[in-house]
Amino acid sequence: MNRLWVWVSLAIGLAVMLVAVSPIIFRIVYPPPAMGQHALNPPPIMDSEQLETFQRQVESRTLSQLGRSLAIAAVVALIAGALLARWLVAPLRKLEEGAQAVARGQLDVQLPVEGSREMRSVSASFNQMTSQLQHQETLRRSLLADVTHELRHPVHILQGGLRAILDGVYPLSMEEIDRLLEQTQQLSHMVDDLHELALAEAQELSMHFQRTDLVKLVQQTTEAFQALTADQGVELRADTPHEPLYMQVDADRLRQALQNLVGNALRYTPSGGSIQISLSMIKPGQIGIAVSDTGIGIDPEHLAHIFDRFYRPDTSRNRQLPGAGLGLSIAQAIVQAHGGQIKAESAGSSQGSTFTIKLPVGKENEHSQAE
Ligand code: ADP
Repeated sequence: MNRLWVWVSLAIGLAVMLVAVSPIIFRIVYPPPAMGQHALNPPPIMDSEQLETFQRQVESRTLSQLGRSLAIAAVVALIAGALLARWLVAPLRKLEEGAQAVARGQLDVQLPVEGSREMRSVSASFNQMTSQLQHQETLRRSLLADVTHELRHPVHILQGGLRAILDGVYPLSMEEIDRLLEQTQQLSHMVDDLHELALAEAQELSMHFQRTDLVKLVQQTTEAFQALTADQGVELRADTPHEPLYMQVDADRLRQALQNLVGNALRYTPSGGSIQISLSMIKPGQIGIAVSDTGIGIDPEHLAHIFDRFYRPDTSRNRQLPGAGLGLSIAQAIVQAHGGQIKAESAGSSQGSTFTIKLPVGKENEHSQAE
């Protein structure tokens, strides 16, 4: 009932009806004199002169009534039109003011959601747009602040080290050069990660999908980490199907995502612990790769933010370890570029963690598996 066209139709209908019934209303308000010289009742017997006079009277009365009716209809239509226009234009004015405010960079504008259904829908969409713009702006600012903060640290160490060498405080030794080189490597690693992440978020990550045996991919990743885990006194196992499991994926990027998860598991699992990589069909149409560890676990309050850029819980262990908090964001971006999802589970501190990549098996993939 709140649609614009209903109101417009009602208003026009009302105006037309008023025009149509105004002579009747006029008649009711000003009833004709019952008798007398102005009465229109013809005398019972009329000669031709009387008949002519009577016709002229009828014509003049009709014309004057029509004129009055038209005048009333015009006034009513004018008032109705003015009110209708005001009613229609008021929310549009607010919308215009809102749009101008957004153009000036004021992104917190919210319009009242009122009026016709169409107007409410436009206002709600406008509000959604400004909220989204505001969210993006907050993300952009926090990214800029995070990037500056993270880059500043290694740059300061480099500058300090080089200045100390120049001032003769540190000797120009191989160890010192090695320490500074490590900082440059950390910097270039972070810049590469940021570049990847920016491409992924702009959905410009170049993907090279190819038919890949996921069993082989998981086994290769396990082998690549075998020496490192053994070094750290951590057991690494892979649990994969016996048959090859073919899927259309970007093998290099998926390997990178898996390496980030296994690398983290290794980083956050103390000696004596274990890591397991499992590949399985979770349900028809969905393949899962889970990386579980018996490590330090993740508290529930951090679990929801773990995939955010630069998010690192401020734990004593994290403070000792290198890392910028980008590994999981990159893994997530890669998985999403495959149309999949990634999730983290942990029963809490010291309870270990499980990260699961879920990939949809598309039509091509079902075909590949059947081969
Ligand atoms: P980084 O490891 O460089 O800090 P990530 O994005 O890979 O960045 O991880 C973000 C945070 O998530 C880590 O700082 C760590 O606190 C937590 N985390 C990731 N993987 C694990 C894990 N397997 N066990 C416990 N905590 C983890």
